Amino acid sequence: MTKIALSPIALVAGGAGFIGSHLCDRLIDDGYKVICLDNLYTGSLHNIEHLMSHPRFTFVNHDVMTPYDVPGLSLVFNLACPASPVHYQKDAVYTAKTAFLGTLNMLELARKNDCVMLQASTSEVYGNPLVHPQPETYWGNVNPIGIRSCYDEGKRIGETLCMDYHRQYGTKVKIVRIFNTYGPRMAENDGRVVSNFIVQALRDEDITVYGNGHQTRSFQYISDLIEGFMRMVETEVSITGPINLGNPEEHTVEELAETIIKLTGSHSRIVYKTLPQDDPVKRKPDYIKANKILVWKPVVDLKSGLSSTIKYFSFCHDKQYGYAENE
Ligand code: NAD
Ligand code: UDP
Repeated sequence: MTKIALSPIALVAGGAGFIGSHLCDRLIDDGYKVICLDNLYTGSLHNIEHLMSHPRFTFVNHDVMTPYDVPGLSLVFNLACPASPVHYQKDAVYTAKTAFLGTLNMLELARKNDCVMLQASTSEVYGNPLVHPQPETYWGNVNPIGIRSCYDEGKRIGETLCMDYHRQYGTKVKIVRIFNTYGPRMAENDGRVVSNFIVQALRDEDITVYGNGHQTRSFQYISDLIEGFMRMVETEVSITGPINLGNPEEHTVEELAETIIKLTGSHSRIVYKTLPQDDPVKRKPDYIKANKILVWKPVVDLKSGLSSTIKYFSFCHDKQYGYAENE
């Protein structure tokens, strides 16, 4: 009798979001059955509309603060959490609860399934860093009581829970610290710098630089991040991370504004607004560990990545910001 090969099953919590929807695409392409768990807090069904009728894709509207149980999983990805400062500060208690309870529930799920769990942590665990670039060995400089703390400390306790599950129960955890990532399917109202500037430039509106614009970030294109995720989940059990995933090309926010104005041919002008509290002054990943362990490095440069993202937003713009795309 011929044996029918069963597809491995991956669960993506936060799968209807920007990063999550790209991850679902990749998993489907790689032959997985995908369960996408999302309560659509910041995500959108538009991001996964093209997957809805796929026989190996299931969407479940679920809040990760409530436990979820399903057998037969090979992989759990925990991405469920608002990620943009505007959204995570809107209801800070919600963010802290999602970061803690969501991670706890997804770890429980991975423990019961005895499968790998990838935790989407963040460069925000370094806070306003005093070490530059930031290696994984740096413990960070986080304000525990500020307006960013619900997210920063939420993600830090998320890492703690992962490592405690690993030590106490042998759960196969993989922590990745994601640095600023951008690309198609960022929400128009997401509030993060790349989407804000592109949308403003396409509308010829003022580009809102916060502070003097001399603060730096290192921008990673979405496809590089997804490649890092997939390499990370394939590592042996002893590799728990944390591992930084980010592009080391560092730019000031002002430079980013100028680049986007040039690439869009916009008539926008730059205006300077108040710098939000605790906004990190600089950020750049040390990615030696990812390079060594995952044999990974980012390959998409800023101009190419921005051009693809601008193309996406232009299409949305033409459709009056209705659903667009498949790139
Ligand atoms: P996003 O807001 O587009 O995606 C987050 C998703 O989680 C959304 O679909 C949202 O609806 C869902 N969600 C939120 N709360 C939930 C809850 N309680 N239950 C179920 N679903 C919930 O943001 P993103 O940029 O795609 O970020 C995804 C993950 O990556 C987040 O955990 C974020 O912290 C992490 N991360 C992102 C970046 C980045 O630059 N994009 C950087 C560092 C870390
Ligand atoms: N920023 C800005 N204008 C905007 C949105 C953000 O100047 O319209 C700045 C923000 O103050 C920060 C940087 O851009 O210094 C990156 O902000 P984002 O919210 O994208 O990510 P994070 O601060 O979490 O790195």
